[in-house]
Amino acid sequence: MADEKAEPQVIRAPKGTHDVLWPESARWEALVAAFSGRARRAGFGLTITPVFEDARLFRRGIGGDSDVVSKEMYEFTDRDERPLALRPEGTAPIVRAFVQHNPPVPWKAWYLTPAFRYERPQAGRYRQHHQLGVEVLGTEDADLDVEVIALAARFYADLGLRRIDLAVNSMGCGEDRARYVDVLRAFLTEHAAELCDEHRQRFTTHPLRVLDCKRPACRAVTENAPRLVDYLDESCAAHFTRVRTGLDALGIVYRLEPRLVRGLDYYTRTTFEFAASALDAAQNAIGGGGRYDGLSEAIGGPPNPGIGFGIGIERLLLACDAEGCFAVTPTPADAFVIDLTGGEQARDLVDELRQAGLVALRAYDGRSPKSQMKQADRSGARFAVIVGTEELSTGVVTLRPLRDPGEQETVPRRDIAARLSPLSSEG
Ligand SMILES: [Zn+2]
Ligand SMILES: [Zn+2]
Repeated sequence: MADEKAEPQVIRAPKGTHDVLWPESARWEALVAAFSGRARRAGFGLTITPVFEDARLFRRGIGGDSDVVSKEMYEFTDRDERPLALRPEGTAPIVRAFVQHNPPVPWKAWYLTPAFRYERPQAGRYRQHHQLGVEVLGTEDADLDVEVIALAARFYADLGLRRIDLAVNSMGCGEDRARYVDVLRAFLTEHAAELCDEHRQRFTTHPLRVLDCKRPACRAVTENAPRLVDYLDESCAAHFTRVRTGLDALGIVYRLEPRLVRGLDYYTRTTFEFAASALDAAQNAIGGGGRYDGLSEAIGGPPNPGIGFGIGIERLLLACDAEGCFAVTPTPADAFVIDLTGGEQARDLVDELRQAGLVALRAYDGRSPKSQMKQADRSGARFAVIVGTEELSTGVVTLRPLRDPGEQETVPRRDIAARLSPLSSEG
């Protein structure tokens, strides 16, 4: 038996999770602000749903035999034996909330959420990762497909990403797909011997998943497979044409990828995926989504068309690193107050400056003048605001530039907030 006393006492974050600390988190704040700005301008509202849900929601909404649900989902029962799961993705909970509350349509929701998957941890892949996304429910207008894809594309551009590959496809409706699956199954049967080990055995039950297989053997076969887009009926073909015309009109560059499919029945029509060309091909997906006109019914609601996408934040930031863009530096403080009279002046002055909308810092624990000055330098603040005994008795403060060249000056204490405000300091 292990010696209890030899056990390490420090508790660390669970395997596959990570902390985002200041100042790295400044990048997250800026990322979320860029996304929420775009989403708000397109009529989306922030939507917050529980981190855990009835486990059946994901079994029905993602598919019980998918890897995500059968191998990766965190499932547990609570003290009343309710079957629950930590959300592995963002869409099913939003559709569940829509069905439950029945808001007016079109309902446009954006979200920021952690997502949980029991995966083998690797670069950019965590057991708790974070997603940004949007969903639109209640309309099948193809212009919304264009809006949703444009929102994601413009957001990537906002971050400075240039090497983005957008793949687009249409999966048609249930009838189109049934017709196509027969043709695809026949094609795969002819080429069964050439498929990868997994799909050689299993292609008959889920032929569409072979299209999604990234192994070279399957890729080589599906290169020449019949294309789903060639089996669309009139209305699905018209829908897809409208989507493509819209993307062209907005100047959004994309390529048609006939193999971009999702293996479940409730995914319909438009499907799309963004990849970062600056990342390794195996790990370069930075967002994707599509229509799911059958999902509402799959989880027990009335028929309701919907479309949306999800973006993994960690992977997206890796893509930014790879392109050397979106290097956010925290905004420096406006002032660091140095109090040589005992601390009461610093206490009052930082409050005054903060009330005036400025970022004001100070030292604590009765530090020496030298130590306070050192902290002020290290803080990156624009100015040190110094209050000594003499300043205190004459109602002034000494203002010393810390970042930019310039002489220190004496400023009446009552003018200091105005003097430090961005508008007045520019002149
Ligand atoms: Zn159709
Ligand atoms: Zn395969």
